[in-house]
Amino acid sequence: MSNIIIDKTDEIQSYEDFLEDFKVDPSVTILSKNCLTLLNEYAQLNGHVLLFQVISQSGQSHQPIFAIAVLLDDRQFPAASASTKREASIQAGYKVLYQLCLDARQTQRFITDTNCTLFDRIASKILSTYRDLCLSVQLELIGCKVLAGFVLEEIDKQTLTVICLATGNKSVGGSVLSSQGLVVHDNHAEQLARRGFIRYLYQQIDYFQKKQESIFEKTTDDKLILKSTIRIHFYTSFAPCGDSALFTPRDKIVEATVKDEHELYRTARVQGQLRSKIENGEGTIPTEIKSSILSLDAITNGKHIRHMSCSDKIFRWNVLGIQGALLSHIIQPIYLNSITIGFPFHYGHLCRALCCRLQDYFHSNPLPEPYRLNHPLIGHTKFKWKEEINRNTNSDDSLNWNIADNNIELIEPSTGKRKPNNEISRLCKSEIFQLYKNLNTTDRKSYYQMKQTSSIYQQCKYQMFRGFELYYSTGWISKDPSLSMFL
Ligand SMILES: [Zn+2]
Ligand SMILES: [Zn+2]
Repeated sequence: MSNIIIDKTDEIQSYEDFLEDFKVDPSVTILSKNCLTLLNEYAQLNGHVLLFQVISQSGQSHQPIFAIAVLLDDRQFPAASASTKREASIQAGYKVLYQLCLDARQTQRFITDTNCTLFDRIASKILSTYRDLCLSVQLELIGCKVLAGFVLEEIDKQTLTVICLATGNKSVGGSVLSSQGLVVHDNHAEQLARRGFIRYLYQQIDYFQKKQESIFEKTTDDKLILKSTIRIHFYTSFAPCGDSALFTPRDKIVEATVKDEHELYRTARVQGQLRSKIENGEGTIPTEIKSSILSLDAITNGKHIRHMSCSDKIFRWNVLGIQGALLSHIIQPIYLNSITIGFPFHYGHLCRALCCRLQDYFHSNPLPEPYRLNHPLIGHTKFKWKEEINRNTNSDDSLNWNIADNNIELIEPSTGKRKPNNEISRLCKSEIFQLYKNLNTTDRKSYYQMKQTSSIYQQCKYQMFRGFELYYSTGWISKDPSLSMFL
């Protein structure tokens, strides 16, 4: 028997809103539940006797109208009318669910545990958090093409907590690049979500230093490490741009099961290569055969800015960790436990793109500890990212939220600045660097120098670049260091 959870919130919805939300709730639509099955489960679970009573039948014989009311034990709920008994029962069922929600001062959100994989539970958490956040902003403002987020699992408490999420699928052009780290260059949801996660990590380091409850503990080498009871999960509504999305519909979709074994699937020579995002566009193109630095001069002279694709950046998380170079001074690398992906999904192609493509290379050229090639669980979720939640939006703006700041920020992707007043975003490099400096007040080095002095991290990064050149004749494009020289 499935388990119905009604989430607690203080807000009371109108009946119309309740119905509308109910019909697009992914946990209902995707599991093909309707209000009758939910009501049956609710009654069974709580030991009630559920009865549908025909109160009256009116209309002409070829156009009858049935009025049906629900009895739950001996409590009668308001009746509903329709031209068939089934439809009248469904309508009456909605009224019962709405009344039950009101009774408990709870809005609708029925999550049934049956048939839910880990990936579904993660997706459902992110989607419902997103929907709650949207109650507080004008929906037209939010671009909704891709949604991504991080979820923290506490194994001992059996809880999943959404740490951060973001929407977006655009990046800035070369004309607005900032050498002071004041612009968010890459506004793809996956990258914004990661930066939100990094803000959360700084908060947790701060808590640790103040001897408050934190996700970290001390290791023998004096760095902080995630407690062994903590796991980090990543969700994205679409296959990340670049290599992950590089397969044809002819490749059979492999459905979701939690598998331990990764499969490297490669049917074309271009698969596995590094790719960069197209300026002002949504596609990606392969990079040159050697790793290179895109100089600021070249960009000012009209060369397009090249951001690495999300598939490549996520691959990098699986080699270097998600914490980045700066935090590697303080903490040990943090690797993802799982990656949940909406659509399109192909297990073997995703394994290749997100971790397995340099499996052989790292096997013969192992990374220095504590770095490693991480193979997270990769899985599909049946919970769809419903664009109709944001009806009528043409906006490209990115939304980001994280649990440490606990408010919403909107970024205009053409400027990489915060809306509505063009202020700098909390996710830009200089703001993140400020968090670092708050922890290490004595260091006077620039952002770039601080990253460079993370020597094992840098060594692993160059080793990864070499692997791509050797195995796929493809090079990583780094940005001009002059874009990171700020203090
Ligand atoms: Zn992307
Ligand atoms: Zn793998």
